[in-house]
Amino acid sequence: MTGASQKPIFDLPERLVGLGELAFNLWWSWHPEARMLFKTLDRQRWKESVHNPVKMLKNLPQETLEAAASDPEYLRHYDAVFARFRHYVNTRGEWFWETIPDPCPQPIVAYFSAEYGLQHSLPFYAGGLGFLAGDHLKECSDLGVPVIAVGFMYPEGYVRQKIREDGWQEGTDEILDRDASAISRVLDESGEQLVIRVPLIEPPIHVAVWKVLVGRVTLYLMDTDIELNEPWNRRLPAHLYQGGVEERLCQAIVLGIGGYHVLDALGIEHAVLHLNEGGPAFVLLERVRERMEKGMGYEDAAQEVRNTSVFTTHTPVPAGHEIFPFPLMEKYFGSYWKELGLDREAFFQLGNNPQAPDAGFNMTALALKMSAFRNGVSKRHGEVTRAMWRGFWPELAEDEIPIDHITNSIHVPKWLEPKMMLLFHKYLGPDWLVNHDDPSIWELIDDIPDEELWQTHIWLKNKLVNVIRERMRTRWIEDRISPSISIAEGAMLDPTVLTIGFARRFATYKRANLIFHDRQRLKKILNDPWHPVQIIFAGKAHPEDMPGKGILQEVFNAARDPEFAGRIAFIEGYGEQLAQYMVHGVDIWLNNPMPPMEASGTSGMKAALNGVPHLSISDGWWVEGYNGKNGWSFGGEKEAENPDQADAEAIYELLEKEIIPLYYDVSGDGVPHGWVRTMKETIKSNAPRFSARRMIKEYTEKFYIKALLE
Ligand SMILES: *Cc1c(COP(=O)(O)O)cnc(C)c1O
Repeated sequence: MTGASQKPIFDLPERLVGLGELAFNLWWSWHPEARMLFKTLDRQRWKESVHNPVKMLKNLPQETLEAAASDPEYLRHYDAVFARFRHYVNTRGEWFWETIPDPCPQPIVAYFSAEYGLQHSLPFYAGGLGFLAGDHLKECSDLGVPVIAVGFMYPEGYVRQKIREDGWQEGTDEILDRDASAISRVLDESGEQLVIRVPLIEPPIHVAVWKVLVGRVTLYLMDTDIELNEPWNRRLPAHLYQGGVEERLCQAIVLGIGGYHVLDALGIEHAVLHLNEGGPAFVLLERVRERMEKGMGYEDAAQEVRNTSVFTTHTPVPAGHEIFPFPLMEKYFGSYWKELGLDREAFFQLGNNPQAPDAGFNMTALALKMSAFRNGVSKRHGEVTRAMWRGFWPELAEDEIPIDHITNSIHVPKWLEPKMMLLFHKYLGPDWLVNHDDPSIWELIDDIPDEELWQTHIWLKNKLVNVIRERMRTRWIEDRISPSISIAEGAMLDPTVLTIGFARRFATYKRANLIFHDRQRLKKILNDPWHPVQIIFAGKAHPEDMPGKGILQEVFNAARDPEFAGRIAFIEGYGEQLAQYMVHGVDIWLNNPMPPMEASGTSGMKAALNGVPHLSISDGWWVEGYNGKNGWSFGGEKEAENPDQADAEAIYELLEKEIIPLYYDVSGDGVPHGWVRTMKETIKSNAPRFSARRMIKEYTEKFYIKALLE
């Protein structure tokens, strides 16, 4: 087998060589004690590297490393962490292997996704779908589920956000420094980087293969930015979700069919395939073709592929599904369907949505037809999806349509703030982290003294405000921004004030501007002299989404409007890092998309895990999460004539009547005990249920094991 990686060229003292290995496995990113190992080497450089250990180790002076190598305390810490890491990667993880029935040959699950949100130094994501994939891999690693993942390298990442003085978002590209990131080249037998030629595309596209280690899981990334390719193809996946339809078709061919060939070249045989969204669905065809090459007939091959494939759909509206025009499909697949033993008609039938037969080749239709295991990503989204695709099963009642749901979730060790984690270590017993999907463990949250939980929260809130002010100060110095912009970016934030957080992509359906529906009422709420409220916004608009940019501009301009007295801030550059600070540090998380557009949503789960209650429309995961005591819910069910108005009013009502009074009801000891009760309920009820551990166990038990036993 090929795949030996090129060793990182750090000049590390013998005693600390393991740091290089740690830096190249993202395991460090969800183990705070490993992160400390890098941070304590040199706090300033850690900060300058933006928490990227590969970059930091490359730039660290030799004296610093030598000093650490002779510091007994550092060495004790290093030895302990490294032993844990070694044990982790050299064992296979218990849960999965205790769960699968013996014997099960080669239980490898190939996971295909167009994006992965792993750590902010690897910008291969646009939003929630990517973080879901990243958390999926981390939890599979922890539970020992043998997953091999495939995706794209986006060398220019996603846009780096810059807001102009007039509030309009401009993007500049964030170029990935391949040599200062936790990615390594996959080499072939001759020691050169493995390069694959992608079939079907002329002039040919080649991909170079990289890998990222995520604990026990390996993610292979395809990079088209190599000299072999024509200049226009080098930039094929340069940006997520940009470009015309033919470019997107070529991306889909690279991801699905190219991805299959990468696994093949590496000699990795997968028993089960899991598609995260329809983008990579062409891999299903390649699985069929490969079986036919070995002598199977089409029907048998297709049946076998179906019985071993899992498809997760995330899209709640028909317009969100990728559809390729027939002539374009013919251009690329005109000879391919013959290899499948199909004619044009039969091939196009595979991508046919019976509810819109002339629309083109529908990737979701293909994935639904060729996968026996199908799911939406929340209970509500399961219902929406069954209704949307009922045309496939006209003989079945809607609730019998074979599309299940597995509610999205978050990887707990990644999203739980380390100080909060210490608090949980202290009160939840020694095994809480291992059993964190068990709700009974979380009953012990009540044992945390109110004062201690509250102090931890206040510490995190101060940290958030300090981080924001520090960023703003840097811009003030470097970009000479005007004072009004610095106020818009958070100069006047006050850590003693009730703080609402709203951070997500600025897609119009998420309605970031909803709370401005009645500006006078909002102004009164925010500017109350005794019980003020402030709102922190962050998020990026898709570079081609003009209405989304318009909403962002509206929010930004409100943030610098003296009318709102500096109580609104818009923080530039939303990404994994800012998301972490925000979900850890605000008091309440606001979510008001237009139902049923948010298939699940996950940012509110990250907040809830850290004791930040959710104020949300009844949609996505919150339909399952809300229990009457763990936050606030509004809207959703009833068909309002003017939903924006109804939902905005519901938010004002809740703020005025319940949330603000509860927050500012502080006892003589300085603690708002009623609020802390809600925080505890938030953690207790949501943490186990919306943990990726619960989610991966469900995927394994409902789908993977059944598919493996085929
Ligand atoms: C969690 C997360 C998301 C997804 O959040 P939603 O609630 O689905 O909008 C998007 N971006 C970042 C940076 C995240 O951390």
